Amino acid sequence: MEITPRTPTQKGPAEWFTGDVWFDVLAAPPVPATLRVNAVHFAPGARTFWHRHVKGQALHVTEGVARVGTRDGEVVLLLPGESLWIAPGEWHWHGAAPKTFMTHLAMWEVGDGTHGPDTEWAEKVTDDQYDG
Ligand code: MN
Repeated sequence: MEITPRTPTQKGPAEWFTGDVWFDVLAAPPVPATLRVNAVHFAPGARTFWHRHVKGQALHVTEGVARVGTRDGEVVLLLPGESLWIAPGEWHWHGAAPKTFMTHLAMWEVGDGTHGPDTEWAEKVTDDQYDG
């Protein structure tokens, strides 16, 4: 075994996120492992664009209040200690509630490319969609 070097905190790119988002890569081991874990830090009101994961994604909130939305218009709130599973291929977004920072762990597996990219990104989440 070997201790993984700490990687610098990275800014969430503007083509994937609305508002200020920073993330730390906690685990991204080499093949044949497929595990990915990021700690993602959202400023109040910040959120992802619409996207989906080929193998699904688990979210676990560690700080603040999260909002997670799906294409059926449902928006759920998650508090610290709560977890959510997003099924493979389900379009969704996640972010902070309007008046608080939020940090979650994002846990997913990368695919082998045969079912498309690991994460497919689409358009920005509107304020109406964010408000549910
Ligand atoms: Mn996601």
